[in-house]
Amino acid sequence: FAQELSQDQHLPNATRDGMKVNLMINSSLGTDSSRARQTGADGIGLYRTEIPFMQLDQFPSEDVQACIYRDLLQEFEGLPVTIRTLDIGGDKQLSYFPIEEENPFLGWRGVRVTLDHPEIFLVQLRAIFKASEGCEGFKLALPMVTTLEELNESYRLINQAFDEVEEELAAIGKRVTKPQVGLILEVPATLFQLKSFAKRVDFISVGTNDLIQYLMAVDRNNLRVKNLYSHFQPAILRVLKQIAHECEHAQIPLQICGEMAADPLASLLLVGMGYNELSMNIGSLAKVKRAISRFELSEMQQLVAEIEAFETEAKVRDHLLKTMEKRGL
Ligand code: PEP
Ligand code: MG
Repeated sequence: FAQELSQDQHLPNATRDGMKVNLMINSSLGTDSSRARQTGADGIGLYRTEIPFMQLDQFPSEDVQACIYRDLLQEFEGLPVTIRTLDIGGDKQLSYFPIEEENPFLGWRGVRVTLDHPEIFLVQLRAIFKASEGCEGFKLALPMVTTLEELNESYRLINQAFDEVEEELAAIGKRVTKPQVGLILEVPATLFQLKSFAKRVDFISVGTNDLIQYLMAVDRNNLRVKNLYSHFQPAILRVLKQIAHECEHAQIPLQICGEMAADPLASLLLVGMGYNELSMNIGSLAKVKRAISRFELSEMQQLVAEIEAFETEAKVRDHLLKTMEKRGL
């Protein structure tokens, strides 16, 4: 099987009838760019900046952060890279900034923390912009955005940090380019204001890890309720289809960055729904590429239509497994 997968490495990231699908990598520290290029990744769809923060024993300075982001952007030069701003809280803790709460997943997470602490946010943004000097094609993504006010306030701080860095670098004859800014869609409330969000951002990246947790009211790490935490729940699939529909209507680029994209069965549905950028852990890319390369786009669309009739998770899963088996996958 491993040999078959490595033969598939040379296939383009596309459906059987040649429609390009961007297969990207979720990365943190130390993703090996030569391995990423070898697997045929189209870029970094999600760089989780909190991971380097978690490995230190104090907040990294602007210079230390700039070094980390510069290394990343240089390693992946020529490929698009999406850097997510600090997403601490929930299950991600910093020893030097403890957050104690009864319901951490419903508490102080993502931009809720960085907007309350603009001094932390501004240092990170300035470091990212400094690191991006001379490099194009990188994007910024904002985690856990819930309201339009949070998005507006994030933009205000992004613009402030950008203007400061631009001025500082102009003084030494260097230039920076403003990145595209996107929303990690992971809070259900944003679904009901999607049109307003779509007007204000350059792209939307669906964080299914959290979105499923909040839609199904199941802790993503609680094994006791694990059976409810499934991306094949009919309700989840309907939501994802609706997002794809609205984003197509708004003509806004759309991506999935949750682990759902790493499941070959799910990838067929996602591509069929209209998601043409999937970001996943590096180890899953070959399997996903293999699955999508065996089906034509119209067949994946047909699959999406077929599963619409199923009212339970088990039926959806069973149907997908049988479809894959028929293709020898
Ligand atoms: C997500 O929530 O789907 C996501 C990509 O972010 P994280 O897993 O880091 O919360
Ligand atoms: Mg998340």
